[in-house]
Amino acid sequence: MKDTLKHRGMRNKLVDIVASKGIVDKLVLQALRNVPRHLFMDSSFEGHAYQDKAFPIAADQTISQPYTVARQTELLEVRPNQKILEIGTGSGYQTAVLLELKAKVYTIERQLELFKKTRLFFDKMGYRPKKMVFGDGYKGLPEEAPFDGIVVTAGAPQIPKALLAQLKVGGKLVIPVGEEEQIMTVVTRKSEKAFEKLEYGAYRFVPLLEDKN
Ligand code: SAH
Repeated sequence: MKDTLKHRGMRNKLVDIVASKGIVDKLVLQALRNVPRHLFMDSSFEGHAYQDKAFPIAADQTISQPYTVARQTELLEVRPNQKILEIGTGSGYQTAVLLELKAKVYTIERQLELFKKTRLFFDKMGYRPKKMVFGDGYKGLPEEAPFDGIVVTAGAPQIPKALLAQLKVGGKLVIPVGEEEQIMTVVTRKSEKAFEKLEYGAYRFVPLLEDKN
């Protein structure tokens, strides 16, 4: 598991592409520069790691497109030490980007195979989320709530109420909403009872599924 100068060079080019597509948050771009995306994929697919594309991983899931990870992270407006909940650990790539931004990360995955694989990989790499949970992200993580931010990395048919309830006042939920195609949606908790919803264009994610597997 190596990160070479060549990989860094390819990553810098990828970050230039991501920036040219409209990502302006310097800290997010720096986090993308720091995370060795090729190590989050099977070594035989290393050649695909620095294209701005989603790619298949285990259990019929995908590692999200770098632009999409950057956009969701930018919309989340992560600050150091904030408590962030991620739904859909997958390869762990988005988790690692959040850790680069010095967030305290809690992450949930419903596929046992991926959960185990990514947990081992994080141990090897020295990535330290606060908690990795095998479970159903629709329910959030009530025992650790409230969160400064929640990011959902799979397409949700509708916004789960449980996730809104686990946001701090001022906190944000970044979630792609829809079936075939999803609209990137940001819900900000303005007060105990008031939520503001803004939309940021269309994406395609694997579906957020109920229960664990
Ligand atoms: N953040 C990941 C994206 C993986 S794709 C990455 O960067 O690689 C979305 C992930 O969400 C898949 O691993 C899928 O198994 C998971 N998922 C789908 N429904 C879920 C649910 N209800 N709870 C937790 N994880 C879920």
